[in-house]
Amino acid sequence: MKNIQLYDNFSRSLREFTPLHPPLVGLYTCGPTVYDYAHIGNLRTYLFEDILRRTLEFNGYQVKQVMNITDVGHLVSDADTGEDKMEKGSRRVGKTAWELAEIFTNEFKNDLGRLNIIEPSIWCRATDHIQEQIDFIGCLEEKGFTYRTANGIYFDTSRLPDYGYLGRLDIDGLQAGARVEMSEKHNPTDFALWKFSPTGQKRQMEWSSPWGIGFPGWHIECSAMSVKYLGSFFDIHCGGEDHITVHHVNEIAQAEGCYGTHLANFWMHGYFLQLDEDTRMSKSGTFVRLQTLIDNGYDPLAYRFFCLSALYRTKLNFTWDGLAAAARSLDRLRLAAYEWGEPGGVDEDFVERFTEQVNDDLNMPRALAVTWELAKSDLPASSKKATLLVYDRVLGLHLADWQPSEEKVPEEVLGLVEQRQQARKEKRWQEADALRARISAAGYVLEDTPQGPRVKPGRG
Ligand code: AMP
Ligand code: ZN
Repeated sequence: MKNIQLYDNFSRSLREFTPLHPPLVGLYTCGPTVYDYAHIGNLRTYLFEDILRRTLEFNGYQVKQVMNITDVGHLVSDADTGEDKMEKGSRRVGKTAWELAEIFTNEFKNDLGRLNIIEPSIWCRATDHIQEQIDFIGCLEEKGFTYRTANGIYFDTSRLPDYGYLGRLDIDGLQAGARVEMSEKHNPTDFALWKFSPTGQKRQMEWSSPWGIGFPGWHIECSAMSVKYLGSFFDIHCGGEDHITVHHVNEIAQAEGCYGTHLANFWMHGYFLQLDEDTRMSKSGTFVRLQTLIDNGYDPLAYRFFCLSALYRTKLNFTWDGLAAAARSLDRLRLAAYEWGEPGGVDEDFVERFTEQVNDDLNMPRALAVTWELAKSDLPASSKKATLLVYDRVLGLHLADWQPSEEKVPEEVLGLVEQRQQARKEKRWQEADALRARISAAGYVLEDTPQGPRVKPGRG
């Protein structure tokens, strides 16, 4: 195994990554709140996590990745006030909160697919884990970390001397500055574990609990589900940079309260995509979706390439010019790869150089620079191709099967190729040959390569 350095926000340092239980790596990635489409900022964070996962796999590890779907409990304000985003969203689109969750979960998965983001090993919905969350709160209650107010059960952050360490929170400063009404909270940083349904009002999503009818707070879902699937101390926990000061601080507090661990060995965060120097993209503000890029003529993988051009640990400005440049670079790489033809022997030296960059805290800009060096090198084309396909296990740009657009193969021919594959699988050789003849009659040659069948215009 090669040395991998990753930046851990808990220790605020680059640390050598070694799994707790090799070759397995437990990875928890905070998932979407499904009251609306994901914007391309959200997707930047999922792209960073995909590169992380691919890098770990590239190094020979087996990654068990868990991603939650927040379909209840995320309030409009991270400070536990305001309405539940799902209930509010439900009114906006005139569907039930349950229907809303279904629609936007599917949209989200569709976006991941279009960006060639590998799906997590386990998807888990907050609403499917209410009992686990109740049990977790019960554990915290037993250990004396909770108190009750008129609107819910809260976590008493003053009980943990290290509360807020991940976010380097200035607790005394926060305490002194807490002029704003805290309702009945004891400390400004205390947060809801369980909220009661408002009196006289029936929520769409509510459950009974030992404390009263209501719903879980947002932070408890991630602690409960990550512990369930990965244990009370696992390898890596990820999210966007906004989670460093609130959500992840609170996930850690809950794990410390119940298990005495800080939940994960590494805490990694993707930095924000912004629209210009200071405008952060948010679901409630300016909103650019992946579909918006597609409607403007872009291939979703051009956005993937755009994100690869920046370090995940820096903010990135989205501009249409930047996206256009990324699309051109991607096309150049695709065309080169296409023209190199069939892959031959991998160049180990170039693989080594690429690995060094991705293992250096996912330095994708430098990994791309090595990719261009490979392209310009005097290695034989077949060797360039084979080496590039190794890189593509991390880059995820579908470089093996791209074809220039003037050579796009019609659907009917692709259908024949598919049928022939099936016939071959089932050893119906005669039928397979007949299908090949039909493909040829339609004006296409079919080659069987180690990556599967490939069709090109021409006569076979
Ligand atoms: P949400 O669906 O709002 O719960 O957010 C999903 C993920 O996107 C979280 O990990 C957030 O930290 C992340 N996120 C939110 N806004 C941005 C942004 N502008 N750039 C990058 N990541 C973001
Ligand atoms: Zn989370």
